[in-house]
Amino acid sequence: MKTVTEILAQPRLNREMRLQNAMITMYCKQHHVYQGKVCRECERLQQMTARKLAFCESGIEKPTCATCTAVCYTPVVSKQVKTISRWGRLRIWFRHPILMSLYCFDSLKPSQMPKPKLLNL
Ligand SMILES: [Zn+2]
Repeated sequence: MKTVTEILAQPRLNREMRLQNAMITMYCKQHHVYQGKVCRECERLQQMTARKLAFCESGIEKPTCATCTAVCYTPVVSKQVKTISRWGRLRIWFRHPILMSLYCFDSLKPSQMPKPKLLNL
């Protein structure tokens, strides 16, 4: 079985991981005690999001997390991640414009996962 690092070497996933980490770091700098590196809680969050990204049930061909239909996070973590991305989604454009442009491009890729069967009435 591949390790997280091996899986996240894949360029598309690597970009998403770097973006996640950058956003958490920016959020931590503004909201927590940042001493040259992110606080312990954010460090744990970064490790967790990287692991979830690598082992998402949609596989390495997964769409970006924002468009993915798999449920990777527990409700508590999901809320935390949503808060951070809501706070950071405009700010990140100023800090990492190229990474964010690539992310938007990646987001255009349709999900390979079967759609939820809500419309089969
Ligand atoms: Zn923090």
